[in-house]
Amino acid sequence: MKERDHLIKPILGKRYPMAASAKGIYIYDQDGKKYIDGSSGAVTVSIGHGVQEVINETLAQAEKISFSYRSQFTNEPAEKLAKKLSQLAPGDLNWSFFVNSGSEATETAMKIAIQYWQEKGKLKKDRIISRWSSYHGITMGALSMSGHVLRRQRFSSLLADYPSVSAPYTYRRPEHVTEEEWGFLCAQELETEIRRIGAERVAAFIAEPIIGAAGGAITPPANYYQKIKEICERYDVLFIADEVMTGIGRTGKMFAIEHWNVTPDLITLGKGMSSGYTPMAATLVSDKVMEPILKGSKTIMGGHTYSANPQSAAVALKVIEYVEKHQLVEKAEEQGNYLMSKLKALSESFELIGDIRGKGLLIGMEFVANREKKNPYPPELDVTNRVIEHAFDKGLLVYPASGAINGMGDAIIISPPLVITKGELDRLVDILEAAISEVQCELR
Ligand code: PLP
Repeated sequence: MKERDHLIKPILGKRYPMAASAKGIYIYDQDGKKYIDGSSGAVTVSIGHGVQEVINETLAQAEKISFSYRSQFTNEPAEKLAKKLSQLAPGDLNWSFFVNSGSEATETAMKIAIQYWQEKGKLKKDRIISRWSSYHGITMGALSMSGHVLRRQRFSSLLADYPSVSAPYTYRRPEHVTEEEWGFLCAQELETEIRRIGAERVAAFIAEPIIGAAGGAITPPANYYQKIKEICERYDVLFIADEVMTGIGRTGKMFAIEHWNVTPDLITLGKGMSSGYTPMAATLVSDKVMEPILKGSKTIMGGHTYSANPQSAAVALKVIEYVEKHQLVEKAEEQGNYLMSKLKALSESFELIGDIRGKGLLIGMEFVANREKKNPYPPELDVTNRVIEHAFDKGLLVYPASGAINGMGDAIIISPPLVITKGELDRLVDILEAAISEVQCELR
């Protein structure tokens, strides 16, 4: 008799293979089938699987102390990790608040931004502005900020209406508008929205430097973030960069926002920060934002049982040290350029590939029904999942990023571990080519 299910899986009734072991860029299932982890799981495992130094550190820390509670003790790994992040982060982002997931990190950032204005006596300044086609997490505050319509739908009546400005979706800008004009126009929308609400009511603007799950590495025009920062400063609005997907080297810079020489007031991290070796995420906060809190209530209204626990902090610190020691930020740029040129070449042979974009090893591929008109496929054709499933069958993992066009639109993310070699990238592209070719035949 078939054993019944007890674990709630993403799609109930679907049969998932059992992940049994992993090393480097490969995952093996219980039948010994080998998969190239072309997505680093959920854009997470940046240093690759099974790194012995990190495993050793996990055990070494467990032998000392796995858990202490932040209201009772501080601990050495958390202190060291916060110091390391302050050295790596741009500008005066010298403070860290540790949480367990990206959703908690963005929700904490939102709360700290609101608290900052309260401590300065501006009690009405409690609104956040975010963009359509964005994803900041699944908890209610984080989802309120997320502009991914499919993820919002079920809870929409409970969510705050934070997404209100367009994403700088370069590929889908109006015809005859240059990239530079588009960057300017999208940033201008923020100014219009701040004026509409009233600057005295707006606490912060939040954006993913490169949009991940909600669009597939949507990369803004070069002038966009400079303009955004100017507007935020002009209207006394804090700028939160959500780097949960992009942070710690993924895009070829330690922080993706550095591509545009802009320093945010808060940065959120997750995923690659611990490379999946432990649940760990962070909200980085600038001296500027901490100042009135230090002078005022002296406490951040937030925190979780597992915040800043020594076990997770020790592991994340080792992961970040590994990224530095093996120059993985530089590798992400170099291998990313190689992968980008291979994928661009590949796109010439497939009518359904509309756009290839991204930076470093965060690359998006958008599929279109008509290349010239850029029409998306009807959602019922499920093109994103077709590509993912054909690739999966052939032993390659890629990540879904559909729904960027008001819930429509098909895209995937290709984001292998930063340790991937050129030979392994060649193999990845060969498998992806075979998968896309099968999908193209099916759609004819
Ligand atoms: N922010 C961004 C940019 C993300 O990509 C994600 C997850 O995909 C999150 C926040 C939420 O992170 P988590 O799934 O760890 O809660």
